[in-house]
Amino acid sequence: MIASSKPWKLLFVSTPVGPLGTGLGGGVELTLYNIAQHMLNRGHQLQVVAPAGSTWEHIPIVQIPGNSQTFAQTQERDTPIMMPENSLLANMWEYARQVQNEYDLIVNFAYDWLPLYLTPFFSVPIAHFISMGSLSDALDQILLPVAKHFPRTVGFYTHSQAATFPGLTPPIYYLSSGIDLDLYDFCPQPKQQFAWIGRISPEKGLEDAVALSQKTNIPLKIMGKLQDESYWQRICREYSHAPMEYMGFLSTTEMQKIVRECRALLMTHRWVEAFGNVAIEALACGVPVISYRRGGPAEIVRDGETGFLVVPDSIPGLVEAVSRLDEISRHQCRQQAETEFSLEALGDRFEKWFGEILEFGVRSSEFGMRSEE
Ligand code: UDP
Repeated sequence: MIASSKPWKLLFVSTPVGPLGTGLGGGVELTLYNIAQHMLNRGHQLQVVAPAGSTWEHIPIVQIPGNSQTFAQTQERDTPIMMPENSLLANMWEYARQVQNEYDLIVNFAYDWLPLYLTPFFSVPIAHFISMGSLSDALDQILLPVAKHFPRTVGFYTHSQAATFPGLTPPIYYLSSGIDLDLYDFCPQPKQQFAWIGRISPEKGLEDAVALSQKTNIPLKIMGKLQDESYWQRICREYSHAPMEYMGFLSTTEMQKIVRECRALLMTHRWVEAFGNVAIEALACGVPVISYRRGGPAEIVRDGETGFLVVPDSIPGLVEAVSRLDEISRHQCRQQAETEFSLEALGDRFEKWFGEILEFGVRSSEFGMRSEE
């Protein structure tokens, strides 16, 4: 029997691409951290299952050994699902299987086929938080029947992200993201510099921000995990005159010290960004966001009020947005973060989602693995 009254016992199973705290997991690391922290603050019991080597403090973590999964975003759509020997993902889910009866709800943060496939084999409901848009035919094919036969259990960041998975049946949960606003300080007077934050990997399109920096001669501070070394070297060669500086992968505290002194955050992604945590982190410091009108950032930035949405892949579009930056009130940027992206707002959305899964129940005896069912 599933308990729907609070407090709940929650088991969060992390992304299998790298230990928490390394940045390898991208924005889902911060999202997982913030939800976990806030669920604990709200009195729920919670355990995180995560890769060995995870470094977070203040959150109970069971560290699981094994070999990491390959990043979905570096593979082709038709690449078969691959599992390394001594798979970390499989080990984490084997642990979840063993302890499942101690919990009301398991929450999956992996963008991977296996946890979706395992859904009907568990007796405890599994909520799947999907952290990227559609990238893999095999994953799409398992996601649709799970969403159909286990209604309410699949959650997304944004509408544009969910729309990349055609055929999803309602109800669809859009959970957005949220941050601890106290960690981000407002800065009214920026320096003449831009920020670019993210994993350094081709889908993030760093080269366009660097091209803008070279064209305008405005310094660019780059922060984030160096995920693709050869891609980075290529950018350094092609834009050797850009006044850019790579600062490394920084803690939230260090990162916000730099971002808040920038005139704008640049988001020049090539893919449908599922959300873009970095956008709300910049807004929280009062920093406008200049972003391509593509994916999650287009649902975050209020064009002309808290930044500018630019025709995707257009450097002239970026240049024009820069010329209009004085129209933006930095106070309004901070205010948007406070009203839409606080931890409270995030906690409310996730509690509603979890509550509805627990209240209505999710098991379906008709579940079939084939997407056409
Ligand atoms: N980040 C960080 N330190 C850095 C650069 C980035 O902690 O120096 C974090 C940032 O806070 C954000 C994440 O990396 O949570 C990037 O997430 P985003 O959602 O923007 O993109 P993703 O990597 O998921 O595609």
